[in-house]
Order: sequence, then structure tokens, then C-alpha cells
Amino acid sequence: MRSLFKAIITILLGVTVGFAKPTIYILATGGTIAGSGSGELDTAYTSGTVTVDKLIAAVPEINKIATIKGEQISNIGSQEMNNEVWLKLAKRVNELLAKDADGVVITHGTDTMEETAYFLNLTVKSDKPIVMVGAMRNSSSLSADGPLNLFNAVNVAIDKQSKGKGVVVVMNDEIHAAREVTKTHTSGVDTFKSPNSGKIGTVFYGKVKYYMTPTRKHTKTSDFNIANIKELPKVDIIYNHSNDNPIFVNAAVKDGTKGIINAGMGNGNPYPSVLEALGDAVKGGVVVVRDSRVGSGETTMDGEVDDKKYGFLTSDNLNVQKARVLLMVALATTDDKEKIQEYFLTH
Ligand code: GLU
Repeated sequence: MRSLFKAIITILLGVTVGFAKPTIYILATGGTIAGSGSGELDTAYTSGTVTVDKLIAAVPEINKIATIKGEQISNIGSQEMNNEVWLKLAKRVNELLAKDADGVVITHGTDTMEETAYFLNLTVKSDKPIVMVGAMRNSSSLSADGPLNLFNAVNVAIDKQSKGKGVVVVMNDEIHAAREVTKTHTSGVDTFKSPNSGKIGTVFYGKVKYYMTPTRKHTKTSDFNIANIKELPKVDIIYNHSNDNPIFVNAAVKDGTKGIINAGMGNGNPYPSVLEALGDAVKGGVVVVRDSRVGSGETTMDGEVDDKKYGFLTSDNLNVQKARVLLMVALATTDDKEKIQEYFLTH
């Protein structure tokens, strides 16, 4: 009788602990965190050679704090990131968060992590934690940063405070919001910054602290939904400079682009011949968004450029790569330019 009682208590405790442990899916897409080289000091390496199981096995501590399930979405350097992987990833994250996942961690190359983060931020419908993580040093290099970054990312994913923050990027002990974060250094481990607003939190050996909450629409409150997006239209970025010429604007239009993000000088100013070519593109039905190559600050409507006259939209303070993501998602949803401008001011 006594031993039966003991057994029941043990089972009950086990079930309780089982329930208490959150389920976190790690979706691997590739990048340096899954990269390897031939030696600890070798600067040459190949992204996306390590599978999700090996990534998880390298950080056994995460199994103590969560039930970890791994899935390989792709295994590419993130410079190869494309619409197909984005759509697949967003749909899978949506499915998992609607079912048993308490949170999702996505391992990703750092080159385009900010674009994928913002794409998911706009299209996934859940307020559960979605955490993106990568590494600047490959898995076989001296002081590889991937394992601690992954440990921190899982800790952020299981933290109740991460609910409703939208997609976050966890790198180098910092938590950044998807809309704000950008890669600022080609090789440093402190490459991720949020130039317009700063980081929203920190995570130190798994201890999570938040200081801010993103206020723009995202995930559950976003006007977009991945369930309604079948494909993404072509949107190009045109980079401006002194003594410029309209060749790339004209080529983009000829190639059938639906939208142009213009990376203008300063407060989004194009060279005169580029300005006129962009105006002609608008007349031909292309949606042109004035943005800046500067990398921080707002591109203000009707500053030195008469946006109303040319029919341009402006990007608020999104950097050009993120403005491209928003314009693609917006054009997949509507062709109403007023509505698209509103999206830039609210997302
Ligand atoms: N090109 C690689 C990528 O983005 C290297 C950057 C990284 O992961 O740190 O996948």
C-alpha cells in the first residue's frame, strides 16, 4: 500500500514537472552558427554544414530547461535566403505556435537575419515568443559564440516576459526587436544594434531582463497574415550616390518590378536624373518608397523632395532592407498607395 502511494506521488510529480517544462522548437536554417572550418584559427569556413541535432547536442544545458524539438528548415548561408524559405518558415512557425510549441527559436545566418526577423514579425499570428539567433564565429573556431547565444535564445524563448514582444533577435547577450535591429559590423560579435531605439533587453547566461516593449504593430496585431500570402512581388532596392545616373531605376522598371525602395542620400535625396526616373516609374505604376542609405533616422515626407508631386511614399525610419520586406508584404496584400503609406507608419 505504502509503495503504491509512493509510486502515485512519483508519477504525479513527474507529470507536473513534465507540464512545467515548456516545449521549444528549434528551427534551423543555416548560417555561421551551423558553419564549420578546418581549424580553430581558420578564417575560411562554410556556412550551413552542421545539422540541427548537432547544434542542440552542443548545448546540453537547454534540455534541462525545456523540451527541445529540432527541425531543419534549410541549411544555407543567409546570403542565399529567399522568398520560398521565408514562406515555408513563416507557415511552419505559425503552425507550431498554434499547436504545442510554447516558443520557437530560429537559428539563422547573421547577414540577412534582420530581414527574416522583420518578415516573421509582420506575418506570423501569435504572441508566443519567436527568437532568432546566430553566431559570428563558426562552430569549430576558437571562442565560438554560437553555443552561448543558443543557450540565451532558449532562455528568452521560455521567459514569460517575451510574450507579446514580437520577433526578437538574441545575440551577444542582447535582445533586439525585429523592426529595429540591424547588422552593423562585418565580423564583430557585437554587430547587432538597434540604431533608432536601442536594444529592448539583455540576457546574461540565461538571465533575462527587458527594458522596453516594441509599440509598432507586429505578429498578432499586424495587419498581415501569412495564411493570406501566397507569393511575394518583386521589389528592388536602388542605392544612390553622387554623380549618379538612372540606369538601375530604368533597368528595374524594364524588368517588371512592382516596387522600388530608393536608398537616397541623407534624408532620402536622389540625384536629379534619378529623381526624374523614379517619377517616371511611379507614372508607370511602380510603387516608389523614398528611404535613406544613412541607416538611421526618419526619411521625412516632403523634405527636399516634393513627394506629393512625384507620387512617392516614404519609409518612416525603416532601413532599406526592411522597407523592402514591408513593401513586398504590403503589395502582396493591396495596391492602395494610401494604405501602403499607412503600413509604413504603423508597422
Ligand atoms: N554569410 C553567413 C550567413 O549569413 C555568415 C554570417 C553569419 O552567419 O554570421 O549565413
